[in-house]
Amino acid sequence: MAEQRRDQRGGRDTRESAGTVGETRRRSVRAEEAHAWGALVATARRTVSDGLVVGTSGNVSVRVGDTVLVTPSGVPYGRLAPTDTVGVDLDGRQVLGTLLPTSELPMHLAVYRSTDAHAVVHTHAVHATAVSTLVPELPSVHYMSGALGGPVRVAPYATYGTEELAENMLRALADRSACLLQNHGTIAYGASLDQAFDRTAQLEWMCRLWLTASSVPGLSPTLLTGEQVAEAGERLRGYGQGERAVG
Ligand SMILES: [Zn+2]
Repeated sequence: MAEQRRDQRGGRDTRESAGTVGETRRRSVRAEEAHAWGALVATARRTVSDGLVVGTSGNVSVRVGDTVLVTPSGVPYGRLAPTDTVGVDLDGRQVLGTLLPTSELPMHLAVYRSTDAHAVVHTHAVHATAVSTLVPELPSVHYMSGALGGPVRVAPYATYGTEELAENMLRALADRSACLLQNHGTIAYGASLDQAFDRTAQLEWMCRLWLTASSVPGLSPTLLTGEQVAEAGERLRGYGQGERAVG
């Protein structure tokens, strides 16, 4: 018994004492986290009301310091309360709440560990997911791909929730703020929840645009060159003073 207690106190035997260790790591929600949780729930609900997510098929996270607040697994967003805050550290250890974090946590954490992201939105938006089954990269039908860093890549398929999927996603995200996940959906990040959401909506819109343009029998859409997309991307990032508005 004495040895067992020592192990638990030292946190070494994580398999046997995970529950105890997990509980002792939990702490109370700080004011800025409570505020961020409210914004996260509002964003998650917006993914549903704007048709980007059906049921609980997507997930949203936001970073507050070294804590990542994330939607829980399998709970409809309409039922999420202020007291349901779920938070993990950057290694995925739960520090806030009792509900289980989303099963897609590895993708969210991989983004935070590799970029300066403050928020991540993942969806199974229908047009984007359709495109992910057709091509390895979204054809450049519109210059708004410049706002996402360039032509949007499709990460090769891997089982949801796995580190393999997170690794495939990171490769597809190189120099981009969004990508498609083959036969799965979208992921986008940003400096805020609003930016991650807007990038997701833009990506879904561009996928819908390409599907629409490429569905006309006998015709195929004109595509922009890499140079044209890059030039638009620079203007969208505000490199050209006074030309930041999307025209
Ligand atoms: Zn998913």
